[in-house]
Amino acid sequence: MSLEQDLLVKPLTARVNLAAPQDLRTYEASGGYLALRKALKELSPADVQSRVKDSNLRGRGGAGFPTGVKWGLVPMGPDAGAKYLVCNADEMEPGTFKDRLLMEGAPHQMVEAMIVAGYAIGACTGYIFLRGEYVVAAERLNKALAEARAAGLLGQNILGSGWNYDCFVHTGAGRYICGEETALINSLEGRRANPRAKPPFPQIAGAWGRPTVVNNVESLFNIPPIVINGADWFKGLSQGKSKDGGTKLYGVSGRARRTGVYELPIGTSAREILEDHGGGMKDGYRLKAWLPGGASTDFLLPEHLDLAMDFDTIAKAGSRMGTGLLTVVDDKQNMVSVVRNLEEFFARESCGWCTPCRDGLPWSVKMLMALEQGRGHADDLAELERLTRLLGPGRTFCAHAPGAMEPLQSALKFFRAEFEAGVSPTAAKADDVHDLAQT
Ligand code: NAD
Repeated sequence: MSLEQDLLVKPLTARVNLAAPQDLRTYEASGGYLALRKALKELSPADVQSRVKDSNLRGRGGAGFPTGVKWGLVPMGPDAGAKYLVCNADEMEPGTFKDRLLMEGAPHQMVEAMIVAGYAIGACTGYIFLRGEYVVAAERLNKALAEARAAGLLGQNILGSGWNYDCFVHTGAGRYICGEETALINSLEGRRANPRAKPPFPQIAGAWGRPTVVNNVESLFNIPPIVINGADWFKGLSQGKSKDGGTKLYGVSGRARRTGVYELPIGTSAREILEDHGGGMKDGYRLKAWLPGGASTDFLLPEHLDLAMDFDTIAKAGSRMGTGLLTVVDDKQNMVSVVRNLEEFFARESCGWCTPCRDGLPWSVKMLMALEQGRGHADDLAELERLTRLLGPGRTFCAHAPGAMEPLQSALKFFRAEFEAGVSPTAAKADDVHDLAQT
């Protein structure tokens, strides 16, 4: 298949070449920056927004909020003042490594997406908020930005259009909470990365109090091809597997034969992702449970493998598609240990702003450790269940703790016997949160 044909089927990864990412010349030779040229010459910002809205592209960061709707909330018009576009490239969700692949492999597609999306919302500046550890991506994106600037694709009077816009890479300092869009904005402004109250949503009051759109890398990668090929083409990419449109980056980590990232029609079944693309489980291991897309989702079971991996289907099954990268748990792993490991991560990454999250997560770790070591108290299961409610949706300042409770509540539901096995009749009760200082 030629690159041209490949771009029509795999618009996200057709150009991804990790060993030799395209420079400006080769990117342009493969149709790069045509979307920008088309937008500036033929389409108003409202036209670009309509295309994206009609495509029904749903945000690929994990929540699936429609990108066109998000853009449509931004005040437009000559008096709208300074606005910002922020790419959330702070990819820290455990088991998720899809955005790194895109940014390292096709940095100019990222840059073009930032410019076209910036044009659509009337932004003056774009920021790529990049996970600090992604040093290769930072180098390649900065090189691509410099090339674009030198070619008049960024900066003052872009391609003679009279529109001024520049874009910068901002590297994060290594906190998971910076992936939450308002914490990210605080961090970008040089403040401590605590989430802000929503509403107001950033589209109304974001960076420096100005309207700001925060979009995930994979969401943005879809923008130039949607501008070029149109909304109907995008919808058709799912090949009838989902009512959502587009392709999706799926992946597998854990004891599968071929862990990695694969671009497939959205709605591809989890079985096809794991067995056909991930090569199935490694010899000697059987699938016990799987997380559909990151640590902050509910476990599903082998019997759920035939479900279409799209936002609504996985939600109906009681979990969330999240980032779409499966983490598989095998039959040799103890669920208490798996969950303890996840909760340790969430406890460490809590920003500490609100009490339920700051104190509740370490408390869960303490009980899980005791159960893992066979010294759990008979009340610990009920306490853990209570915590899943106390730290659930609406009880905390942001989605961090409710997300952390998803794997715990589903593991308790599906694998209760493994938790019960950790109870000792002689164990002392970890009575309250004040014990935390000793954990
Ligand atoms: P959310 O549903 O609150 O918001 C998602 C997006 O939609 C945001 O940009 C928000 O501004 C917008 N939005 C939602 N409701 C809106 C409304 N009523 N009006 C206007 N805009 C609205 O989710 P969230 O807390 O931002 O993110 C949670 C998700 O992030 C989870 O699904 C999780 O899987 C994912 N996540 C991903 C990573 C990663 O590395 N990719 C890391 C952590 C979490």
